[in-house]
Amino acid sequence: MKNERFGAVVVGGGLAGMLTALELRPLSVALVSYRALGELTSSAWAQGGIAAAVGDDDSPSLHAADTVRAGAGLVERHVAARLAADAPEAIERIASLGVQFDRDAASEYSLGREAAHSRRRILRAGGDATGAELVRAMAEGVRHAPTIVPFEGARALDIVTSDGRVCAVVVRNAEGALERLTTDAVILATGGIGGLYSHTTNPRASVGAGIAIAARAGARLEDLEFVQFHPTALDVPSDPLPLVTEALRGEGAKLVDAAGRRIMEGIDPALELASRDVVARRAFAVRVAGERVFLDARALGESLPKRFPTVFAACMAHGIDPRLEPIPVVAAAHYHMGGVAIDLEGRTSVPGLYACGEVAATGVHGANRLASNSLLESVVYPERIARDVKTHARAERGIAGTDDKAIATRPYVAGRDDEWRAVRREMYANVGVERDEAGLGHALAAFRALAETTPSDEVRDAATTAALIAQSALRRRETRGSHVRLDYPGSALHSEHSFATLADLVPSA
Ligand SMILES: Cc1cc2nc3c(=O)[nH]c(=O)nc-3n(C[C@H](O)[C@H](O)[C@H](O)COP(=O)(O)OP(=O)(O)OC[C@H]3O[C@@H](n4cnc5c(N)ncnc54)[C@H](O)[C@@H]3O)c2cc1C
Repeated sequence: MKNERFGAVVVGGGLAGMLTALELRPLSVALVSYRALGELTSSAWAQGGIAAAVGDDDSPSLHAADTVRAGAGLVERHVAARLAADAPEAIERIASLGVQFDRDAASEYSLGREAAHSRRRILRAGGDATGAELVRAMAEGVRHAPTIVPFEGARALDIVTSDGRVCAVVVRNAEGALERLTTDAVILATGGIGGLYSHTTNPRASVGAGIAIAARAGARLEDLEFVQFHPTALDVPSDPLPLVTEALRGEGAKLVDAAGRRIMEGIDPALELASRDVVARRAFAVRVAGERVFLDARALGESLPKRFPTVFAACMAHGIDPRLEPIPVVAAAHYHMGGVAIDLEGRTSVPGLYACGEVAATGVHGANRLASNSLLESVVYPERIARDVKTHARAERGIAGTDDKAIATRPYVAGRDDEWRAVRREMYANVGVERDEAGLGHALAAFRALAETTPSDEVRDAATTAALIAQSALRRRETRGSHVRLDYPGSALHSEHSFATLADLVPSA
């Protein structure tokens, strides 16, 4: 196996991974990316924008308060306060890296409004193409950074530890060969888990590999049961489903049934701007009752193609003209609040292992993420992580002795379509918008069995992560935020974060 040494290894070619690699300069960094930089990432697809209290009538404390309110009692207040406080500076940092945010005639940031934000504080780029602009600027920066070595088309398989400390990552490179990247610091930035669901807005690469890899290295996982469903994915035969951004509702679009009745009336006083879990649950219920759900954005008229070019193009590609007809929508898995537990500096429970972006559980989203806070996390934590890595960087020590003999000796085996289909259907049916003990138990047993029997590393990782999520959902016997238990409809008086490790996963019978 080829062996190279780096100051740090970053896994994931989305916003969190690329920005962390840039912040780590001048350390030598290997940036392991499943595809070309930015390709098949949630980051590139983000439409709504990025939240930061930069408006005259706004403040970090108002931003933090909105975040706490959305999180249904599980947001760590000090973490939210620091995220909101660091947001304006993080925006300036990425603007200095070349991100072109939309500005008004006076050259001030033009700020959008989104559900559950009490102020206009959403920065955008290219209208609804914010993610694409972020990824463009980061990829350009990475390509011009002489100390960053991109491993594109490579997949991280496992983290190697020695005496409980990170010492290497094993990757399968673009040619299919195994490589060992030796390092004292590994930053997981592998994104979310939406690809584990049959209805999702996430790229197919987002199947929670980072969670399985971290779990095998012994890392503590947090709040895995909290999966946010987006109420308005475009309801067309496509996989993944195109997103119809929340910002449309912020600009007045209405959720209706086939007869044109407002479906949020009588459900929540904020109507379409209620928190995501409330809107998604209602959209799901209307659907289960046999009705289709539509987003009526006709009032935006001719401004729609200009202000929401991505949504407009996706609709038109499926023969829907949103200027003339309501847009059919469906709830789809969108964002994972839980993940690998980290502290304020991005450190996991395994020395030398960090997590950043959607794969991490910072404690800031609680049971329900406030829209546009996830891109924010992906731009705030890289600087903190880089500072911590540099502070603790050890002198070059040559190649460490390790315990990786058993790792990655298996040849590559692609996952079979029927295996992927089984996981994705089971997740949407039984670990989805609404859950109960019987369904979760069924799903958990199926995922454990698949993880033990599949010859494919990719399917094993996906099934392991799916099993960990199902088990966490089974153990949380209450309804809170995005976690809806039909058999436990009330919220517990005192609720706490949930934690898990791989050792907690009940073995199959
Ligand atoms: C359609 C859509 C719209 C969104 N809109 C918004 C928005 O407006 N505002 C907002 O704040 N958030 C939004 N989000 C959420 C936000 O985009 C994500 O949370 C954020 O971009 C995650 O960034 P990331 O870098 O952590 O992950 P990603 O951008 O998903 O990147 C992860 C990368 O890691 C790679 N990877 C995974 N496993 C491995 C492995 N084993 N080896 C190598 N590489 C691996 C993946 O292929 C991918 O390239 C949206 C999400 C989606 C899907």
